[in-house]
Amino acid sequence: MSEILVAGGGIGGLTAALCIARRGFPVRLFEQAPTFEEPGAGLQLSPNASRVMHDLALKAPLRSSVSQPEAIEIRHWRSGRVLAAYPLGKRVRERYGFPYYLVLRKDLVDCLANAAHDDAGIELQTNARVERVHQSRAHVAVSINRNRHVGSLLVGADGIHSAVRTALFGSETPWYSGDIAWRTLVSSENLPEAMLRPVVTIWWGPGKHFVHYHAGDSGLVNCVGVVPGLDDEQPSSWIERADHAEFQEDFARWHRDVRTLIDRTEPDGCRKWALFDRPPMPRWTDHRITLLGDACHAALPFMAQGAAMAMEDAAVLARCLAETTDVPTALSRYESLRLGRTALVQRRSRSHARIFHLSGVSAWMRNQTVRFILAHLFHSLFAYNALDPHDAP
Ligand SMILES: Cc1cc2nc3c(=O)[nH]c(=O)nc-3n(C[C@H](O)[C@H](O)[C@H](O)COP(=O)(O)OP(=O)(O)OC[C@H]3O[C@@H](n4cnc5c(N)ncnc54)[C@H](O)[C@@H]3O)c2cc1C
Repeated sequence: MSEILVAGGGIGGLTAALCIARRGFPVRLFEQAPTFEEPGAGLQLSPNASRVMHDLALKAPLRSSVSQPEAIEIRHWRSGRVLAAYPLGKRVRERYGFPYYLVLRKDLVDCLANAAHDDAGIELQTNARVERVHQSRAHVAVSINRNRHVGSLLVGADGIHSAVRTALFGSETPWYSGDIAWRTLVSSENLPEAMLRPVVTIWWGPGKHFVHYHAGDSGLVNCVGVVPGLDDEQPSSWIERADHAEFQEDFARWHRDVRTLIDRTEPDGCRKWALFDRPPMPRWTDHRITLLGDACHAALPFMAQGAAMAMEDAAVLARCLAETTDVPTALSRYESLRLGRTALVQRRSRSHARIFHLSGVSAWMRNQTVRFILAHLFHSLFAYNALDPHDAP
């Protein structure tokens, strides 16, 4: 098979390049940015994703950057009462065979990019924006900086504003959820010992929620506060630097721990991120071109599964390519294995936006039942094995 082309060098594209190269296919990856970079923030990687990382022999390189939380706790926004807790750590490793990791995004992307650099089967090209795509019966071609590259197939892993998706299915604006996420990292040195438990904490309040956890072994605590955006504020994507006082104001009536986290943030370290998703697609493959990750199933971050879904995609795509020499057959098999699961995560993430932010009697009823639902929800995510052809959902 001639080269497999990958557009986009985010978490999805890099993982895809590694999974495909491990199956013995040559890969050429194009990233539009000058370097492989992710904004400084934390990421949760559940066992369905760490399984893929370990299969790529990244357990050892990741070891110095990750941490493993002992539990996820959901707490009441004002009283701090624990509404539900789900054990992680040893319990998850024993049950699913793989750990639940917390990591700084930058460290994860560095790890993936270093592994891809070291892989003789992968060519990485930066400053390479895929502009046009073309396919015939026998090959696919992309135009980059007026150069043409030909391959046997193209994987569009170029994110929520995917150019490859637009080339295949036309342009369609992502859906703005109406919420924005405050994001910041706080040095754990600035926090009291009692607030440094190795736990992912999710605070539910009326119309808003707040999440914090250790960003791996970085000594930083990752904080995300989701609040409604202003109606006249239709942000395009990432808003650089946001006003610390506004962040404080948004959570002024919340529990002392939440306020402490915000107060101890470096004033110029706050970012605001508008939250977009897309509705599930009926299909995302056309002959020799397919999509992967946020390019085809961008979800709101309320299940912390976007990167995990991209990693699962990568493993399933690679195994489908290894199963047949006919590219269109492999790509449509990949799509059929992934459509249902990723659509479910997109839909559930949207419904979580409503559930997290309930108020009044609805919130009270939710609080009584949440602990019975958590185990079932997490099991459906964590048990998925993207590496096993006989373990399809
Ligand atoms: C607040 C928040 C918290 C989140 N937390 C989690 C979490 O805890 N766990 C989790 O699993 N997920 C989480 N997610 C989701 C996760 O970040 C994304 O789903 C994931 O990063 C998508 O990866 P991707 O590679 O598909 O896309 P992207 O990360 O968007 O990467 C796309 C890449 O393609 C490049 N590119 C774009 N266009 C072109 C082009 N034309 N040519 C070449 N290159 C191009 C871009 O520069 C970029 O490098 C969160 C998201 C948000 C917003």
